[in-house]
Amino acid sequence: MPRARSGISSPIPSVKFNEALREILNRAIDHFGPQNWWPADSPFEVMVGAILTQNTNWLNTKRAIENLKQAGILNPHLILKRRRILPRLIRPAGYYQLKSQRLINFVRYLIQQYRGSITRMRQRPLFMLRKELLALPGIGPETADSILLYALNKRIFVIDAYTRRILSRHNLISGDEDYDQLRIRCEENLPKRISIYKELHAQLVMIGKTFCRRNDPHCSDCPIADLRGLS
Ligand code: SF4
Repeated sequence: MPRARSGISSPIPSVKFNEALREILNRAIDHFGPQNWWPADSPFEVMVGAILTQNTNWLNTKRAIENLKQAGILNPHLILKRRRILPRLIRPAGYYQLKSQRLINFVRYLIQQYRGSITRMRQRPLFMLRKELLALPGIGPETADSILLYALNKRIFVIDAYTRRILSRHNLISGDEDYDQLRIRCEENLPKRISIYKELHAQLVMIGKTFCRRNDPHCSDCPIADLRGLS
């Protein structure tokens, strides 16, 4: 357990924020192997997954996506056309009425603004796309940034609850920063490479899911147990 929480001293010196991010990435890759996220067959599937995974685990999201695939409607035009069957198909992801509406709103936007073309959407600058996505009902910064980074290959770092928990437990952030403060802090301390943004977020999720649970962290087995930030 990091000193910030447990009072146990660290066997390695405290590190700066940029060094800590690099250490987390390297050690997690050594431990879990490269994740090469996002697990999907197409950018549109990433977008759908980012919306469906809100407030549920990935297994449930995968089941819902599988249903869409089996029904042959994992496509913006077909989702809109067959919207009546959407709640039934995405039911495994939970909040299925709400998520159906979010998905419908999203595909309407994609069709109206970009004629349903991800390639066309990708040509738009990052800050404009982010503004558009955040204006859609039910799309918050984490969902918007997941779509931007993993579906559209835009250089923006994704912050989630695992990122915040891990960094604060290691004395690297205070934990009360707002989403964009934390995102910018990470971006300022990372090499400006999309591949690194993608992999670090994926590895933080792996650490969070495997070890850094909210109530019962398994620090003794965690690859970054001895890492702590400068106070
Ligand atoms: S589980 Fe890992 S990431 Fe979480 S506090 Fe413990 S050592 Fe840190």
